[in-house]
Amino acid sequence: MDGRTEPAGGAQARIQQAHDGLFIDGKWSPAAAGEWIDVVDPASEQVIGRVPAGDGRDVDAAVRAARAALPGWAATAPAERAAVLAAARDLMAERKEEIAATVTAELGSPLRFSAAVHAALPITVMGTYADLAAEFAFEERIGNSRVFQEPVGVVGAITPWNYPLHQIVAKVAPALAAGCTVVLKPAEDTPLVAQLFAEVLEAAGVPAGVFNLVTGLGPVAGQALAEHPDVDMVSFTGSTAVGRRIGAAAGGAVKRVALELGGKSANVILPGADLARAVNVGVANVFANSGQTCSAWTRMLVDAARYEEAVELAVAAAAKYVPGERLGPVVNAKQRERVRGYIRKGVAEGARLATGGPEAPEGLTTGYYVRPTVFADVEPGMVIAQEEIFGPVIVLIRYEDEEDALRIANGTVYGLAGAVWGADEEQAVAFARRMDTGQVDINGGRFNARAPFGGYKQSGVGRELGAHGLAEYLQTKSLQL
Ligand code: NAD
Repeated sequence: MDGRTEPAGGAQARIQQAHDGLFIDGKWSPAAAGEWIDVVDPASEQVIGRVPAGDGRDVDAAVRAARAALPGWAATAPAERAAVLAAARDLMAERKEEIAATVTAELGSPLRFSAAVHAALPITVMGTYADLAAEFAFEERIGNSRVFQEPVGVVGAITPWNYPLHQIVAKVAPALAAGCTVVLKPAEDTPLVAQLFAEVLEAAGVPAGVFNLVTGLGPVAGQALAEHPDVDMVSFTGSTAVGRRIGAAAGGAVKRVALELGGKSANVILPGADLARAVNVGVANVFANSGQTCSAWTRMLVDAARYEEAVELAVAAAAKYVPGERLGPVVNAKQRERVRGYIRKGVAEGARLATGGPEAPEGLTTGYYVRPTVFADVEPGMVIAQEEIFGPVIVLIRYEDEEDALRIANGTVYGLAGAVWGADEEQAVAFARRMDTGQVDINGGRFNARAPFGGYKQSGVGRELGAHGLAEYLQTKSLQL
């Protein structure tokens, strides 16, 4: 691209876009239709770049390249793949600041958060797969059988904008470690960091055709990829509505599918827990990334005796998330309207607006900002307690006893994550074991990049991260001797 576009005034980061093509079979090439998607900085509302809008023809070319590259890549020794992934991790680490600046420019997250999470997390995850490719038992002996774990084949990866590079790496790194080849369709709001990632993989020595990037619109390029007959597996992260369609299409074609969908996770604060810590960590968990985290603990459950104290603590914690400073904008105007609509709905349903609201934050006329919002007196059946809002909104629900808390915690269609705070670890673990959800943090437990992540119920199918994430991209063959 000639125009090395830079964001206009007010943007938090300056970026340079190096490419204006799709990355197919090791080459940057224009999209068949010659159409474009503008990339907008959500903080400044300025266009900061553009990427080609690929369609079915481009997806087809990318799938053909991935198919042709499969036998060679699948036959590499795991140690060879591990070395390539380690090189990718090192190159990402070298370009960490650029990654952070790019995500800030296209997602709007504060630069410090982009560096600490949007850049650091995928580097860590890439490192875990460099290690796992080397360590994993791709062959085992069971009695008189030799059992092999072989790559599933050509993977179509479709990712959302909320953690743009993490979502990509959480699919592409295990797929490559397994010996699969990949066609990636990243979210239309955040395609620039995907281009940077393609450069990284090429420089790391990923052979032509093993990784391909097709930017484009979901219902066009995404759907063409999800429904392509020569794709062996679709790995999707995004909304439950789209995930359901992709799952149905994959079922019809009898192909492997992994779905990471929405959530409405519960933060259960049991009597005897450290209330101030549980509320502060809980609010931070929701407002990080402007509430755009599928695993966010968006429902805080507090016993009746300490409920009002928790509301006060939550309001005080929310005040630290000043829009335009610690709290970034949401990704686009549509999402902002969606989030504001939920805030209005909460008021209409009779919940108490403890802080925040649907109005634009004071003094911020530019940028897709939403006020950090805390709802109290929320009933478990209200829409704001059931549906994923995906903005800086937290709801506090009162419970009577532990059984009531469990019923409320399990009372949504989702089951992605959650937290339990108890007087001691044993009490909290016992409660967490009864939650219908895929991942629970106990008393503020530390993040583990090798622990499996994924949903129960309508939050998804399959697991990402660690060895469980790698296994998604493998199929099993046994030879009886
Ligand atoms: P989405 O499901 O529309 O988009 C996710 C990805 O799927 C994008 O790459 C998109 O282009 C693609 N896509 C869209 N329609 C498609 C189709 N018909 N076929 C194939 N691919 C398609 O989600 P979104 O618009 O980015 O966000 C909407 C909601 O999804 C959010 O408000 C939130 O509730 C949820 N979400 C969840 C996660 C998560 O990590 N679980 C992440 C982002 C968004």
